[in-house]
Amino acid sequence: MLNIVIFGPPGCGKSTQSARLTSKYNLVHLSTGDVIRKEIKSGSELGIELESIVGKGELVPYNMIIKILESALVQNKNSNGFIFDGFPRTIDQAIDLDKILAKDKQEISTAISLCLHDKKAIERLLNRAKLEGRKDDTENVIKNRLKVYEEETYPLISYYHSQGKYLEVKGDCSINDIFYNITNIIEEKMALAQIDNNILNIL
Ligand code: AMP
Repeated sequence: MLNIVIFGPPGCGKSTQSARLTSKYNLVHLSTGDVIRKEIKSGSELGIELESIVGKGELVPYNMIIKILESALVQNKNSNGFIFDGFPRTIDQAIDLDKILAKDKQEISTAISLCLHDKKAIERLLNRAKLEGRKDDTENVIKNRLKVYEEETYPLISYYHSQGKYLEVKGDCSINDIFYNITNIIEEKMALAQIDNNILNIL
């Protein structure tokens, strides 16, 4: 299985790239943000609760997120793998994701961070607000989301680095260039993993 984590500050383009990677490698795209927005749109009691959290740019409590994750993993047990888009967002979530995958003898293959300066992120998200009207794309909420990213999600870099799984791609280029760079590093990584496997088989 190919299990890819993709993360980066809001506006880095992780959802666009995740959708492309999903179709290129025939994976399941798990976007916790999309699942949350669907629940909000449904107008359910849970959706109303989620809306007040997401609307402030805060992270949704872990007990809610973990249910989304576990149900997606169970429903897609026989897939080629997952693109985890928006999960994990904290070190605790990353540790739990590793544990959950390990139960099925699976692991994260690689974690890709899309880097983008705050100024560019704010500019992109304010433009997206005009096109899509996402309620959490207002300037104050964007600034809070960037702060939450810095404090909670940025530390994932050292987490995955220490596992030898961290890869970095510049998010300040065209969609096609970013995709080209991501697929290049994934394929390099897969080729190296294949070589390791062959060596283990020979031994
Ligand atoms: P995204 O579409 O990934 O930008 O997510 C939109 C919002 O959903 C975030 O700002 C959070 O409020 C919430 N969210 C998405 N994924 C998570 C997660 N793994 N943990 C906590 N909150 C999340």
